[in-house]
Amino acid sequence: MANAFQHGSGLSLTGLTRQEAEAARKKYGWNELPRVKRTGPLLVFIRQFSNFLVLILIAAGIIAFTLGEYADTLAIGLVIALNGVLGFVQEWRAETALESLRNMLSPQTLVLRDGREQMIEARELVPGDLIILEAGARIPADAALHDASGLRVDESALTGESVPIGKTPGEDGSEVCAGTVVAAGRALAVVTGTGAQTSFGKIASLTGSVGLKKTNLQVQLGRLAMQLGFAAMAIATAILCLGLYMGRDVAEMFMTGLSLSVAMVPEGLPAVVTITLALGAAAMVRQKALARRLQAIETLGAASVICTDKTGTLTENKMTVTGIWTLDRIYQVTGTGYDPTGHIALDGAVIGAKDDAVLAEVLNAGMTCTHANLHREGDHWEMTGAPTEGALVTLGCKGWADPPQPDAVLAEIPFSSERKLMSVLVRSGNGAKVFTKGAPEQVLKICTRTMTQAGPRDLGAEEAARITAAYEAMAGEGLRVIGLAAGAAQGGTIDEKDMTFLGLAGLIDPPRPEVRAAIGAARSAGIRVIMITGDSPLTAQAIATQLELPAGKTLTGDALEALEDAELDQVLRQEVLFARTRPAHKMRIVSALQEQHQIVAMTGDGVNDAPALKKADIGVSMGVRGTDVAKDASDLVLLDDNFATIVRAIGEGRRQFGNVRKFVRYLLSSNAGEVIALLINILIGGPLIFLATQILWMNLVTDGVTAVALGLEKGEPDQMEHPPRRKDTPILGKGGVLTILAFGLYTGLASLWVFLHLLPVNEDLARTTAFTAMVLFEKASVFAFRSLHLPCWRIGFFSNLFLLAALAVTIGAQVAAVYWPPLQVLLHTVPLQAEQWGLIGLLVLPVLLVPEGLKTLRYLATRRRKGPAAVQA
Ligand code: ATP
Repeated sequence: MANAFQHGSGLSLTGLTRQEAEAARKKYGWNELPRVKRTGPLLVFIRQFSNFLVLILIAAGIIAFTLGEYADTLAIGLVIALNGVLGFVQEWRAETALESLRNMLSPQTLVLRDGREQMIEARELVPGDLIILEAGARIPADAALHDASGLRVDESALTGESVPIGKTPGEDGSEVCAGTVVAAGRALAVVTGTGAQTSFGKIASLTGSVGLKKTNLQVQLGRLAMQLGFAAMAIATAILCLGLYMGRDVAEMFMTGLSLSVAMVPEGLPAVVTITLALGAAAMVRQKALARRLQAIETLGAASVICTDKTGTLTENKMTVTGIWTLDRIYQVTGTGYDPTGHIALDGAVIGAKDDAVLAEVLNAGMTCTHANLHREGDHWEMTGAPTEGALVTLGCKGWADPPQPDAVLAEIPFSSERKLMSVLVRSGNGAKVFTKGAPEQVLKICTRTMTQAGPRDLGAEEAARITAAYEAMAGEGLRVIGLAAGAAQGGTIDEKDMTFLGLAGLIDPPRPEVRAAIGAARSAGIRVIMITGDSPLTAQAIATQLELPAGKTLTGDALEALEDAELDQVLRQEVLFARTRPAHKMRIVSALQEQHQIVAMTGDGVNDAPALKKADIGVSMGVRGTDVAKDASDLVLLDDNFATIVRAIGEGRRQFGNVRKFVRYLLSSNAGEVIALLINILIGGPLIFLATQILWMNLVTDGVTAVALGLEKGEPDQMEHPPRRKDTPILGKGGVLTILAFGLYTGLASLWVFLHLLPVNEDLARTTAFTAMVLFEKASVFAFRSLHLPCWRIGFFSNLFLLAALAVTIGAQVAAVYWPPLQVLLHTVPLQAEQWGLIGLLVLPVLLVPEGLKTLRYLATRRRKGPAAVQA
């Protein structure tokens, strides 16, 4: 088996041994730049107190102190401290979650060590290592080229020059620098400098980055919190003036006004959103989707079209040759995967390279025109390189073809998705010859002769028609078909013309088992799936049929180019799949879909996919086979390259957006109740219904903890059964404002009624009961917000244990507030009797039952109208 790197250098290279690499690492250190120091915990803690809303609280504390209200001062101090701790814990957890995501993005590199190509972390590279650079790779260290074919390097990160520069070993400028990118070609290079010793020690991101940029949602909510802050101050001032006008105690009114303004503001909101998104990102990683930007999670929930590659995303990318077609013989191939046990058969009889000269040449072409390597790892075979090539190398082994000499290949034109061809110049006897492989129609274009058992003959129209028919028959079965050809070398260079067609290899690449269900899930979620593949139309159609992906129309890349924009727009309104495309076509498809106001998720793995990934609303790159350039351009990295993961991530995006809407409404409805009770009470001239400390307490027990627990709600059972939301769907909307008002009015008026009802008995008792009633209303109302349209019995009463725990803790705290003497002093409460508890219980019931009843009626009505599957928001 070919173990060592083979190329035109005339050398067989084995790279450093593990011991040598270890010794060098001790001497030169890790190949990484000193990390930007993460913000320390102390600073994060202090940051919690610089918030505008907390500053209002601090002012309130100072005023309370000056007025000699020491209990209030203490309460306010406690609220500030607890808010700070809560904010700190949330932010720190978010930071830590993001940090670990960042670590997962650390780049890998292909290195030759111990005579074997291996993927290692780029930080493990040492000077002297031999690295293999392929198109799309970010160069991990400074290196001197040893060997290169068609290498062009994009040095814009270093020099600002955006046109990629050709590089050839041995010439001036044959050094490649860390941080620049291989735009095309392939190279073998010796590492000369690592880490801080690289000439570009300051590259922006050696480790990739997870954007900390605020998402639209965060900005929108931050703005909402700020607006509420100002509104609160205005209302507080109005209350103060009103109170003074009505001759109320100045100090008391001052405190009430200030506390009210704080009570009205959901100051926990921005922090809750951050932690929800960060925890959501961590949850997504467990499902194999890594969000490089938090924004992606938000947009994902609104995705309306997924444009996906075929090979490796819808299929396994584990290729096996199952048949070979030549002009006069058809061979069957047994065995699976990259295990060379298996054989080639002709009419049921085993046959090998030495029995059949045409077969020998086909196998030879497949084994030579390649970068794939097989090696045994314990009891199984490992393959490095492209799966298509790995399958052809395995095929060669099954046919007992001689592996090519290590120094056989003299030059190469690498494979690219644009050309769909790859050629090598190889030593042959005393001369040299060319082997080419690629998409059959491309190979046919450069052939003028064809090989037969009787020797080569001219490739006329009849032969071409037979080859095309065989190609179509194989592709129609869903096989990926590779054409192979050989030619004479003219003047020691590769000239892809006048070649001899050798045969076709049919490769099976089975669909991933979970994809069919995922496509079904996407469709019932109103998300269109469009396959865009470089493979042939027939193969693509066959795979689409196997996956039950509707594709009424198949358009090739060439046909796409011939379309006017208006025609493409029409095509994209039907079920369509695109085949034999080049990466540039993706860009046009994304733009056309975006013109239709679709939110587009687009997958890509190659260097030329980057523009389309950037343009798409959600660029999705492949964690396993994707190039660094594609990963850098993407918002979401699929750690398993699997289409099903995109659909899961969309579900997660929907869940998170839904949860943000839930807790925003919940927090604001709680605040609305307090404000309404206070305002009406002041207007009718009653004594203060809630004291400043009580308002702060409510603020503390309702905010934060319960809201974070709401952010942890599981996805609703029907979240993938309704169409995607529009991107501009507001967080609150009319429905949201009405719900908040409805809750606010009931809880506000009910607590006011309790207060006025008990006032003749005893003012402190009345106030304590109203205060406790309000807290319990707020606790009970959380059930209404667990889902904005489904009743609790449908989503499961116990499906969010965090919420139940949060409720238990906060209700326990309220009981303590009423019965525990230190808290009684602080909050001016008196113990409640069974009678008051009964009253509160009665008033709480509607909060629990009415929303639940309304949602149940709506649920049943929708189900009756549209069938069980169609109950939607
Ligand atoms: P997708 O775009 O869905 O990932 P793909 O991998 O088939 O599909 P390309 O990489 O553009 O897309 O490949 C296009 C065609 O080129 C293939 O159908 C195959 O015929 C040919 N091909 C693929 N890999 C090689 C290779 N390493 N050498 C020669 N030809 C290849």
